[in-house]
Amino acid sequence: MNIILLGAPGAGKGTQAEKICEYCHIPQISTGNIIRAAMKNGTDAGKKAQEFVNAGKLVPDAVVIEMVNERLKQDDCKNGFILDGFPRTVPQAQALKEMGVEIDHVIDIEVPDETIMQRMTGRRVCGDCGATYHMVYNPPKVENVCDKCGHELIIRKDDHPDTVKDRLQVYHEQTEPLKGFYENLGVLYVIEGTRAVEEVTKDTLNALGAQSALEG
Ligand code: ADP
Ligand code: AMP
Repeated sequence: MNIILLGAPGAGKGTQAEKICEYCHIPQISTGNIIRAAMKNGTDAGKKAQEFVNAGKLVPDAVVIEMVNERLKQDDCKNGFILDGFPRTVPQAQALKEMGVEIDHVIDIEVPDETIMQRMTGRRVCGDCGATYHMVYNPPKVENVCDKCGHELIIRKDDHPDTVKDRLQVYHEQTEPLKGFYENLGVLYVIEGTRAVEEVTKDTLNALGAQSALEG
């Protein structure tokens, strides 16, 4: 099953991707996490991406497309994958098609901008594995410690309210047109993303036809 998660920054894509991974046993491919790791490691791609990420802008298509192309060639993607944060522009969606990738489901998680602004102030992420938490809505078991790998949780630089505003504008201008792109292909499912994390997971698994994963 090849899945795309669409939605504004902060809509809950990473949170839901982590759940789907667990239930469906397919990897989460988060371009945000890949880019942050590249920046941390100081790779060429990371250096190219840095100024765009910090300004809340999109990294140039060619840089991100190359990263995804390389990642999808890895063995663990053979039985499917969840793309979280890619594609974010129509040329990225076209590039995915040109790679020969068939998409089975596009889950669009809808959350109004005002709610996003509130969510971002409480977001914490693992500085090592990239897992996502919220201080109130999705807290870790131990304060400031990642449940998955035990590393410290951090605040993302680009979660500053001014940068979030810019990122939302970029989303509306450049990413939202993808809804029409995938609707035309008949694979778009719209999910109400303002409900509790568990409710959104249930709706998402239903849309994927994988609700039995919750029972098993
Ligand atoms: P995205 O990957 O789309 O940028 P995240 O999954 O990181 O978004 O979610 C943004 C923030 O909102 C995180 O702090 C996360 O814990 C929190 N969050 C995600 N889903 C929900 C939800 N359904 N209700 C409340 N908070 C949520
Ligand atoms: P995310 O973790 O998905 O919120 O992404 C964080 C930042 O990484 C974005 O604001 C962009 O600067 C960059 N980024 C992530 N995915 C993409 C993409 N598909 N295209 C361009 N830039 C991206």
